[in-house]
Amino acid sequence: MAHCQYCGQRLDEDAIVCSACGASLVGENTGWQELQIQEKIDEAKHRANIHTISAIVLVTIGIVAGSVLCISSNAIGLFGVAFVCLGIGCTASAGRHELKARRLKKQLKL
Ligand SMILES: [Zn+2]
Repeated sequence: MAHCQYCGQRLDEDAIVCSACGASLVGENTGWQELQIQEKIDEAKHRANIHTISAIVLVTIGIVAGSVLCISSNAIGLFGVAFVCLGIGCTASAGRHELKARRLKKQLKL
């Protein structure tokens, strides 16, 4: 866990500006470089994509399995519900990573 070198505020690992005093944490003292920030943005975007794809795949499997419920056993139907839930969870994760990428981008412009 990092701390602001100016006010001592506990900071998020990804913080580029201090949330308490607003000091820029980008510089040689913190090891933050624009390139590293860009890498973080790319990583967050990449993760968002993976989660989005997983969500689509899981929900599709869930819907297909759920349809099978109509002509088959309850167990498969429950399986479908589980997949849809997992898919929704992945969508939430994708949203979080996208938010992180946007937040980092915004900080980069400061
Ligand atoms: Zn501070």
